[in-house]
Amino acid sequence: MDMMLEFMEQISQAEQIAIGGHIRPDGDCIGSCLALQQYLKKKYPKKIVDVYLEKPSSIFSYLKGFDEINTTVSEKNYDLFLALDSSSVDRLEFSEPIFHRTKKTLCIDHHISNTYYADKTLVFPEASSTSEVVYEMLLLQEKQEGKTEEEWIAWIGSEIAAAFYTGLIHDTGVFKYSNTSPRTLEIAAQLIKTGIPFTQIIDQSFYEKTYIQTQIMGRCLLESIRVMNGKVIFSALSQEIMKFYGASSEDLDGIIDQLRIIKGVEVAILLHEVKTQEYKVSMRSNHTVDVQRVAVYFGGGGHKKAAGCTMQGSVYDVINNLTGLLEEQME
Ligand code: 5GP
Ligand code: MN
Repeated sequence: MDMMLEFMEQISQAEQIAIGGHIRPDGDCIGSCLALQQYLKKKYPKKIVDVYLEKPSSIFSYLKGFDEINTTVSEKNYDLFLALDSSSVDRLEFSEPIFHRTKKTLCIDHHISNTYYADKTLVFPEASSTSEVVYEMLLLQEKQEGKTEEEWIAWIGSEIAAAFYTGLIHDTGVFKYSNTSPRTLEIAAQLIKTGIPFTQIIDQSFYEKTYIQTQIMGRCLLESIRVMNGKVIFSALSQEIMKFYGASSEDLDGIIDQLRIIKGVEVAILLHEVKTQEYKVSMRSNHTVDVQRVAVYFGGGGHKKAAGCTMQGSVYDVINNLTGLLEEQME
């Protein structure tokens, strides 16, 4: 049987379902979790479907189900755990204990670096987002039951569509990154048929910045350093600077993209200190460099053109280690 239909079969058999996503959940993570949860609640009103995510940013508060997201671990037991957009088990972070004590586990993802930690794993590295994978999985089941895509879209309505759409725009940089396929745009076309306020969704969740976020971005750009003949650019934020601006990691969205689009840059790196001498590393590449390979080497993961990891040491150590590996790919 098709793997997607097998997943749908297992989901339909479970009565109590937990859905979990990755640490520091982004738009795709939140969008895919809430789209799946809201779909399951609508289709199977008797099922209990709970979402577990580290405190999500309030920019996503327009999504249905946002206020019911569990941000702390509970003692509840579930028949099935669905891990979304999480390439390794440690990425589940606080919901990991629930994952481990749940008998059946399924993972739905689009990270090529997925470690196949669940009982069954569905990975489509060519999909723009986990939201796209979830959409295709639910649609396949509905088609099996005789519905057309148009009929299904009319049935899900604007609230579930908004969650899928949020996932698509966040992982494609509003349909701009190379992971955007004709199919991604076809799905977006279906979603806007439901009447979602897409302009508002894009502005509120993607482009809008607070004053502090803008200031910290300015500071990162001002203090960025180019190495390797301008092919690599990096910027680092210490804990001290983060504290000075009262900023947290969710305030850094968009900075790395601004570094990446600088003329001549192949790889952009943003470091932000999460503990003393421990840096969260974000990397983006423009063309040939596979930053995922570098991230995996240091225990992280991601995609060819967008990846991350956590590294110890001074900024100098971290950049030296990263550029050493990047150089091998740029010769
Ligand atoms: P970002 O730089 O926006 O945090 O992440 C870019 C991509 O790399 C995302 O797809 C994200 O899931 C992945 N990623 C970032 N940090 C890590 C990490 O520490 N471990 C793994 N496995 N993936 C990461
Ligand atoms: Mn994703």
